[in-house]
Amino acid sequence: MNLDLLTSRTLGQRKAVCPHPECAAGVSMQLRDRRQVHPNPSLTLVMKTNGPVVYEELWSCDLCSRGTIELVGYDGVSLLRVEEAPEAWRRQVWPEPAPRELSSDVPEMVRILFTEASRAERGGGFRLAGVGYRAAVEEICKDQGATKYTLHDKIAELAARGLPQEVVDAMNEARVVGNDSVHHNLEYAADEIADLAEIIAEATEILYVEPANRKRMAEARKARSQAAKAK
Ligand SMILES: [Zn+2]
Repeated sequence: MNLDLLTSRTLGQRKAVCPHPECAAGVSMQLRDRRQVHPNPSLTLVMKTNGPVVYEELWSCDLCSRGTIELVGYDGVSLLRVEEAPEAWRRQVWPEPAPRELSSDVPEMVRILFTEASRAERGGGFRLAGVGYRAAVEEICKDQGATKYTLHDKIAELAARGLPQEVVDAMNEARVVGNDSVHHNLEYAADEIADLAEIIAEATEILYVEPANRKRMAEARKARSQAAKAK
């Protein structure tokens, strides 16, 4: 088999972050293979189905060449028209999606709640993820010294104390998504929950990681200065 031909074959391209932790770069990925896994193609005599159709896709990273396998689902479409149908869902199966993690500068309880919410998200439990991300934000409010009873009031209290607007907006977003998920039986889509996770992660950068970095740099400067004076 001509390996060059196989590796150069592409059925499509997209920009994405490579899911392999050794690489994790924002890169171009090539669609190398795509096959129907449900309904079982070898058993399908009729070309129409009103049930779900599932494809398996193999993507490769342009930078590290590692492969990623995803399943893509379509609902109630004719097999002939599946290419035109909107994706109902898409899930990475390999490498197994790692949960999101926050920096060790972030308070432990916030990190634990965030990672658990992310595990729910990775498993497709978007309501539970919404509730979990909201809980992580509630924990941030407590850590920041908010004393009011409801999360709405805690956020308003911190906003009045001059918390950056970006952080306040992220917190309010998490509050709304969490409330909808738990009280209004509203399920958010995968990309909406992913956006929420990312803005919360950014908020923790502003609140915890950047100040910790500044402190570390100041300490390093002080140590250098003292070492120079001691000479
Ligand atoms: Zn890669």
